[in-house]
Amino acid sequence: MADPNITIVAPSCPRCGTPRAQRVARSPVPGAWEMHLCGTCFYSWRSTEPAYATTPEGIARGFRIDPATLSLGKVMPAVPPLRETVAQSDEPPRT
Ligand SMILES: [Zn+2]
Repeated sequence: MADPNITIVAPSCPRCGTPRAQRVARSPVPGAWEMHLCGTCFYSWRSTEPAYATTPEGIARGFRIDPATLSLGKVMPAVPPLRETVAQSDEPPRT
């Protein structure tokens, strides 16, 4: 069990480097773990996860994000046109 006297400081985001990620949850046992969320890239992690998920050096290079490029990302797939419903069609409703 973790030392309850240890204070976990909200770190910067290991994925994009945004300072002061938001703490969104704490363990029921004080000091055991905390859950953090980055408001820039929406990466979330628990303080007890391995370095590959919690430190900038451990995050895989291909998984890192430069916040300056977030607006250049591709748009989510377009919503397809709505299908014609019975109310919109000229056909009589099926019974
Ligand atoms: Zn981030």
